[in-house]
Amino acid sequence: MPTPMSQWRARLESQRQEIQARIDKIRRDEQQETARGETDTAHEWENADVRDDLLAVAGRELRQVDAALQQIDLGTYGLCEVCEEPIAEKRLDALPFATRCIECAD
Ligand SMILES: [Zn+2]
Repeated sequence: MPTPMSQWRARLESQRQEIQARIDKIRRDEQQETARGETDTAHEWENADVRDDLLAVAGRELRQVDAALQQIDLGTYGLCEVCEEPIAEKRLDALPFATRCIECAD
């Protein structure tokens, strides 16, 4: 039985919240470090680098989740963007914002 859209939407929305919380936390850490005046030691530069990477990853995930939510609205969610065939449920289950089927993924 296919998973109902409402269930995918709920999963994507909770994932969206989780990513948003992650971004908020990174931003908060950053502010705290700035407030403590620790921004110019080598250690903090390293942290800033890691943080930028984490923010970039989180930002990308957020865009993917948003795109998937938009596809649910449009009724095209779960279809491969390349061959337009339905993406296997097992794949969506592991990666709810996948936009390509396993054959087109690489
Ligand atoms: Zn495909």
